[in-house]
Amino acid sequence: MPTNSGYENTTRPILLVALGGNALIRKGERGTIEEQLRNLCVPMAQVARLSKKYRIIITHGNGPQVGRLLLQQECCPEIPRLPLEILVAQTQGQIGYMIESTLDNELTEMEGEHQNLIVTVLTYVLVDENDPGFSTPSKPIGPVLRQNYISQLSYPAVKTPLGLRRVVASPKPVTIIEKREIKRLIDTGFIVIACGGGGIAVIRHGRAFQGIDAVIDKDLASARLAAEVGVDVLIIATDVAGAAISYGAPEETFLRKMSVAEGERYLSAGHFPAGSMGPKVEAALQFIKSGGNRAVICSIDSIEEATAGNAGTEVVR
Ligand code: ADP
Ligand code: MG
Repeated sequence: MPTNSGYENTTRPILLVALGGNALIRKGERGTIEEQLRNLCVPMAQVARLSKKYRIIITHGNGPQVGRLLLQQECCPEIPRLPLEILVAQTQGQIGYMIESTLDNELTEMEGEHQNLIVTVLTYVLVDENDPGFSTPSKPIGPVLRQNYISQLSYPAVKTPLGLRRVVASPKPVTIIEKREIKRLIDTGFIVIACGGGGIAVIRHGRAFQGIDAVIDKDLASARLAAEVGVDVLIIATDVAGAAISYGAPEETFLRKMSVAEGERYLSAGHFPAGSMGPKVEAALQFIKSGGNRAVICSIDSIEEATAGNAGTEVVR
C-alpha cells in the first residue's frame, strides 16, 4: 500500500518545517524566479525524504515577496491599490505553487512516478485589533530603499541592519482559522503547505472575518499552528546554523542545546533581536511550553540532521 496517498495516516509523528526567506532568495541574489525555484530544491529534497517517516506541514515567510508586490503595484498609480491582506494572500499562492512544484519534482526524482498528495491551504490567522503591533509597525518587508524614493511610498521606512526598509504592523497570531482543515489533511496523507507569510491577518466581527493591514511573523504563526494541530517536531530553518549568544561579537557562542529558562533569560538580555532571531527563539520556547516534543532552529541545509537531533539549536525543557 502506498505510504502517502490519501489513506488514514495518524501513526507517523507530525513534522512542521518553517522555511525562512533564504529558502527562496539567498544573500546577494536578485531573487529571480529561476533562483527561487533552484534554492527551494535544497529544503524540498530533504522534505521529500522526511515525508516517508513523518506527516508533514510546511510553512514559509514572505517578507521579500510581499514587499516586492507592494512596490510593483505602487509603480502603476492608475490601478487601485490592493491592501496588504490581499498581497499576503497572493504570496501564499505564488510561494505555495513554487514549493509544491519543487517538492513534486524531488519526490519524482526519488521515487519515479509517485502517489504523494500535496496541497497548499490558504490560511487566515486571527489577530487582536487592539494588539500593540498596530500602533508601532515593526516588520520590515521588501528591499532596501533609496532615501529619495521613500517619500513617495505608503508605509514608513526605518533603518535596519541592511539599510532603509519599509515596516508594517505585525500583530501576534491568536489562532489559526484553518487548523481543523490542516489536521484533517495531514491525517489523510496530504503534505500540507500552510500559514504562508505568517497567514492572512484577520479580525473577527461577530461571526464574520475581516482582513486587516498587517504581516504576521511566520515563526510565531508556525508555533501557534504547531500547538493547535499537535505537531511533534518543529524545525525553524534559516540562513545560520542556529541561535548564538553575543552574536557577531568576538565571544559569540553558538548554542547546541538551550533550556526554556536559558532561552527566556537570553531573550530578555537582548541576545536575540526582534525581527530576526527573536521570534524564532520565542516560537521554539512557546512550542515546547505548549507540550511539543522537539523544537530546533537550524540552517536550511541541515533540516534532516536537525530533525534527527544532530544539528542546530534545540530547545529543551
Ligand atoms: P528568516 O528569513 O529565516 O526568518 P531572519 O533574517 O529573520 O531569517 O533571521 C535570521 C538571521 O538572524 C540570521 O541571518 C542572523 O544574521 C540573525 N541573528 C540575529 N541574532 C542572532 C543570534 N543571536 N544568533 C543567530 N543569528 C542571529
Ligand atoms: Mg524572519
